[in-house]
Amino acid sequence: MRGAVFYGTRDVRFEDHEAPGIIKPTDAILRLSATCICGSDLWFYRGVSPMPWGTAVGHEYCGIVEEVGSAVTSIKAGQFVVGSFFASDNTCPSCRAGYQSSCRQAELVLGAQAPRVRVPLADGTLVPTPGAPSGEQLPDLLALSDVMGTGWFGAVAANVEPGGTVVVVGDGAVGLLAVLSAKEMGAEKIVAMSGHEARSKLAREFGATEIVTERGERGVARINELTGGIGADSAIECVGTKESMAQAIEVTRVGGYLGFVGVPHGVPLDLQALFHTHIHIHGGPAPVRRFLPDLIDRVWSGKIHPGRVFDLKLPLERVAEGYRAMDERRAIKVFLQP
Ligand SMILES: [Zn+2]
Repeated sequence: MRGAVFYGTRDVRFEDHEAPGIIKPTDAILRLSATCICGSDLWFYRGVSPMPWGTAVGHEYCGIVEEVGSAVTSIKAGQFVVGSFFASDNTCPSCRAGYQSSCRQAELVLGAQAPRVRVPLADGTLVPTPGAPSGEQLPDLLALSDVMGTGWFGAVAANVEPGGTVVVVGDGAVGLLAVLSAKEMGAEKIVAMSGHEARSKLAREFGATEIVTERGERGVARINELTGGIGADSAIECVGTKESMAQAIEVTRVGGYLGFVGVPHGVPLDLQALFHTHIHIHGGPAPVRRFLPDLIDRVWSGKIHPGRVFDLKLPLERVAEGYRAMDERRAIKVFLQP
């Protein structure tokens, strides 16, 4: 089987590697209908995070169950399913608390930029759709596997409430979908911080009421102007750098909520500054599984179209080109057709 394999910094190839098979009786093998490249894949692609040479990469997926292990009881061959990038049993204390991404048996799903993938803990991880989706629904359903669920968690963690004011820091796919999530949750004023024309246009279509192009102190000053000097009730941080986290903290009002879903890379936390602002901070790898049934319903009823973040569609064999396009910020998110 051929799929995306990581060979080193800025070197992903469409190569032959071992086809996935059932390893544990709780596994399922899916034939993927669609897969994609994640903003977080850029961390290893650029050499920022370690990734062993020769790893089959990709962690976002949806498709048809081809085979299940002997201990799988609820998931059946032939079902169309969506799952999270973290496999989870959905029964342990962490899962029951709603944090399936920190399941006691959590396992990262890898090798999804391929025609087939192995998903561990199939019963806990996979959620079937009401039926076979149309081709048009595929991008929307695929987005639920990570970016939409992550944006949604950012908004939940930031305690977005009807009528509230929300600032979203980061205009990648997750940031844009955090805007969509805040809109769905009834926020009244949604500020997207973006200096990129195509991205800010999509942010507006997803529900942003204001676009702030400035960053740093000038960005904070603009948010202050827009909120009557108070700051935002909710800030959603979707990047993971020192600068973006500082930005999110500074735009949150006293006693407000900050949800952070950008994987932190070198972010120091100044507790003393936080001490005097009473800000609630909550984040982490999104427990996408918690939100999947609700988000599948919203997609199925045509209420949301998170798949609009895919602005480049390529056949899977051109995956290397997709990585380059995302690395050079020529594409927001790349959809791959196996
Ligand atoms: Zn669990």
